[in-house]
Amino acid sequence: LVRLRAKLSRSQNVLGRGLLTLLSRDHLDEDAWEEVEELLISADVGLEPTGRIVERLRERTRVLGTRTPEQLRVLLSEELTEALSVDAERSLNVRRDGDRPSVVLVVGVNGAGKTTTCGKIARVLIADGNRVLLGAADTFRAAAADQLETWAQRVGSEVVRGPEGADPASVAFDSVKRGIEAGVDAVLVDTAGRLQNKAGLMDELGKVKRVIEKHGPVDETLLVLDATTGQNGLEQARVFTEVCDVTGVVLTKLDGTAKGGIVIAVQRRLNVPVKLIGLGEGPDDLAPFDVTQFVDALLG
Ligand code: GDP
Repeated sequence: LVRLRAKLSRSQNVLGRGLLTLLSRDHLDEDAWEEVEELLISADVGLEPTGRIVERLRERTRVLGTRTPEQLRVLLSEELTEALSVDAERSLNVRRDGDRPSVVLVVGVNGAGKTTTCGKIARVLIADGNRVLLGAADTFRAAAADQLETWAQRVGSEVVRGPEGADPASVAFDSVKRGIEAGVDAVLVDTAGRLQNKAGLMDELGKVKRVIEKHGPVDETLLVLDATTGQNGLEQARVFTEVCDVTGVVLTKLDGTAKGGIVIAVQRRLNVPVKLIGLGEGPDDLAPFDVTQFVDALLG
């Protein structure tokens, strides 16, 4: 938790401390509520959730009258928890099913942190005693496969890659095939995220998914999203949820941004739970998303 706090310190300054300071004013007039609203918007909470949070805070502070800092903290903690909660499983569905490994498809736009996230997830699974295979289905840039291979060496997983320009679907197919033959517990398939046009992406990811399914179902489709890209990133992300059955979001680069409120916006807009958060570039900078810990870290 100490580490999470340190990593989320910028969001904590803005969201947590900012809100606590604003709400501790003696008189919460219209100007004050406008500031609360602006603060939530600036933290990327999103318009609709901001409206709801402000409405609830107004009502609850009115009922409360004078507020002690402790009461405010509890109140904010409850409201943020409510705003961040979803009715969905957050743990990764990576339980080996008989002789078939779990298959995780990792999608998202270039630069969001897909390859890094594949490496970090592999690290966690390997630490739990699993054998992991990474599949480099981002075949458009040789550097992408090189980078995945470097991660594989770093965390001690197998890797399957094709020649540059190979069909991503064929590499995905070979990865799962090899994973089954080698008896690994999980196969993580890294994909390309070229978003020039939706039809192209849909074709490509659709095909990757279909060929994997020749071996059995995809257990998780994780959408990797850069927390610093704000509401625009969210629009792009929607395309992925339309193209493939996204089962969870990995929100990267939450370290060093003040826009931690994006977790709320992501879940509301995409209707998918945030399952993991990226807190840096290192192999251990990945954490399961836990609402209680996240809210505690924000409120300091
Ligand atoms: P991809 O194109 O989606 O595969 O993205 P990469 O995995 O290559 O990541 C793009 C850049 O973002 C790299 O420089 C990563 O080190 C960096 N990155 C990925 N995740 C995080 C994170 O959680 N925090 C920070 N600060 N940087 C990250």
